[in-house]
Amino acid sequence: MDTQSEVVSRLRSVFASGVTIPEEFRRAQLTKLMSMMKENQELIVKALHQDLSKPKFEAVLSEVQIVINDLRYTINNFSSWMNPEYVGKNLATKLDTCFVRREPLGVVLIIGAWNYPVQLLLLPLIGAIAAGNCVVIKPSEVSAATDSLIAELIPKYLSQDCYAVVRGGAEETKSLLQNRFDHIFYTGSQTVARSILQAASVHLTPVTLELGGKCPCLIYGRIDIPAAARRLVWSKFFNAGQSCVAPDYVLCSPAIRDALLPVIRQTLEDFYGKDPKSCPDLSRIVSPRHWTRLVELLGKTDGKVVIGGESREEDKYMAPTVVTDVTEDDALMKEEIFGPILPILTVDSLQEGISFINRQESPLALYVFSDESHIVNKVLENTKSGGFCSNDGIVHMTLPTLPFGGIGASGCGQYHGHYSFETFSHRRGCMLRGWALERLNTLRYPPYTDSKLSW
Ligand code: NAD
Repeated sequence: MDTQSEVVSRLRSVFASGVTIPEEFRRAQLTKLMSMMKENQELIVKALHQDLSKPKFEAVLSEVQIVINDLRYTINNFSSWMNPEYVGKNLATKLDTCFVRREPLGVVLIIGAWNYPVQLLLLPLIGAIAAGNCVVIKPSEVSAATDSLIAELIPKYLSQDCYAVVRGGAEETKSLLQNRFDHIFYTGSQTVARSILQAASVHLTPVTLELGGKCPCLIYGRIDIPAAARRLVWSKFFNAGQSCVAPDYVLCSPAIRDALLPVIRQTLEDFYGKDPKSCPDLSRIVSPRHWTRLVELLGKTDGKVVIGGESREEDKYMAPTVVTDVTEDDALMKEEIFGPILPILTVDSLQEGISFINRQESPLALYVFSDESHIVNKVLENTKSGGFCSNDGIVHMTLPTLPFGGIGASGCGQYHGHYSFETFSHRRGCMLRGWALERLNTLRYPPYTDSKLSW
């Protein structure tokens, strides 16, 4: 088996041969990726169940379909994305041909995380292939079954000369990062992102960082409580809360909290039954280490556990849990929860809610639930976040025409659809000029005179 550096240098010479450049090559690879997704849905669902007990419905929706949708959109459109983009000109460049040319970056590295171990690797891969790159794919070792399935499927379907899967944990990834890449696309935690940046700095490699954080859900004003409860519960407890865009905490007035709580309780029962432990529609925590972190985190809160709170080590289960009376300096507010615990904090005014959000790091997503559009607009206009969605959670990321990515501590760079293609392309500004109007150029050649400036 090739060492990591042999893999990278092999891809580098394949890239230099130009094989990934023709549109037809890229289209053929994307089409094979589509076949991979369609022909192996069952295996993918099975691996995700092994890793996270992901319900089939959630696996198909958030791992298989989302990739197929992005693939379809990209296959239908990337040809026009490849076209030169002609730009506006001024008098001095009137006779020139001025355009932006999208060129592949070279050999790029995609590092995925365990919570959506298929889409977090394959959505960026679609853009990297469409843009004409060679790619090293590094799945998360934490979601072990999906890791090994990806390593088995990719070489079966895609060109082994151009795309390679490299497996391993932190140590292997660190040594992989010593190689020179032309772009690093990293999804994962803020802590690891710092070492990714350090490794990238050695070769001055550009990076995209898809990180996490605490996504607020501000519920304010007139509101359809039952609909709000359903959408909140669905988006929070989807994948047992292990979503980078899950609502991390709720901010609302005491009156809304009191109205919402019994409806959340009922909604949880409607969705997961009286005994969520035995419900097949609830994922499990990915590993004993992650489960312990959540149990300890819940143990540290000074808030009141009003719903759920139970956990069971043998199958890494944690009940959908709601905690009230949580304050800004509570343990639950110190880190991204990334599990099925929903703290509810209260604020006395909309402005207080906005100020609260603005005191925290910029989140990956910001949710506002309200029937009143002026409230939604006020929050939109007075806050910062990677993405924004009113009256629902998570769903904005399923639309391939919207850019997806963070801002500040929640990441940098964007992807999905056309944005993935742009991320993995260099925009080369080109001016094709002939020899015309040389007499006019005497105006810029020495000897310089003041009269030449006043032209
Ligand atoms: P993880 O443990 O799977 O790590 C992510 C990747 O980093 C893995 O491939 C892993 O092998 C590698 N890695 C781990 N330690 C490393 C090290 N020291 N050096 C180099 N590489 C290393 O996932 P995680 O970090 O637990 O991911 C969870 C975080 O990811 C959460 O904060 C979540 O919000 C965020 N996330 C963000 C997005 C997004 O799209 N923005 C999506 C999913 C998850």
